[in-house]
Amino acid sequence: MLEMQGIETFYGETQALFGVSLNVGPGEVVALLGPNGAGKTTTLRSVLGLSPPRRGRIHFDKQDITHMPTHRIARMGISWVPDDRRVFPTLTASRNLRLGSRRTRFRAWEQQEMFGIFSALEHLMGRECENMSGGELQMVAISRALLGSPGLVLFDEPSQGLAPLIVQGVMNTIHRLKQEGISVLLVEQNALAALEVSDRVYVMDRGHIGHEGCARELLGNAALRQRLIGV
Ligand code: ATP
Repeated sequence: MLEMQGIETFYGETQALFGVSLNVGPGEVVALLGPNGAGKTTTLRSVLGLSPPRRGRIHFDKQDITHMPTHRIARMGISWVPDDRRVFPTLTASRNLRLGSRRTRFRAWEQQEMFGIFSALEHLMGRECENMSGGELQMVAISRALLGSPGLVLFDEPSQGLAPLIVQGVMNTIHRLKQEGISVLLVEQNALAALEVSDRVYVMDRGHIGHEGCARELLGNAALRQRLIGV
């Protein structure tokens, strides 16, 4: 579904990614782990065309998206759940969701279905996002991503700032997306929670992919886990 080959991305003259290659298959959940500054967010920004790579190729759904503008990449079926949620604070949840709605070649989701996933959302629809808690905002951000009819969702630190119970809810939602055949690339500091919901894992360090493997295997190998991700 997503294939990145030899991606090199820069901020000005500073190189952040050094030949990053990774792929996400259809309906696969892939975790991207690593310490602060490793290049995880930059990898997502490269896919989205927000920080286009200087070298390497990115294919999504068999099409070359390397130098496509972000709005076209979104219309191809890639949704993003950013770490800072990026909702319009003075607009209601309902308006934010309407602004995120989009049709692609992938399954279209209805607003009503979001209430099935997040039962609390229905009562939040008329509330401005600036008056919401972190967990409520995350529901809006994930619902907005789904209403964009994605084939692939990029999650950037979805558990950041959330209570453990809400984190579990977010991870359950990711599992649900997988069951629906949606692919997920999951950047997460909460490595154990991410590994539990993922099929495969990449570990990054200083702009390089240092390890690629099966998530379950890494979860079950405490020594390797300690060496690679320090948990
Ligand atoms: P974190 O978990 O802290 O967000 P990360 O793994 O997502 O870390 P990135 O944010 O992708 O890492 O950062 C990768 C490198 O790029 C770091 O060295 C960072 O300082 C640098 N970088 C990130 N954003 C910018 C920017 N806007 N301008 C210059 N350098 C940047």
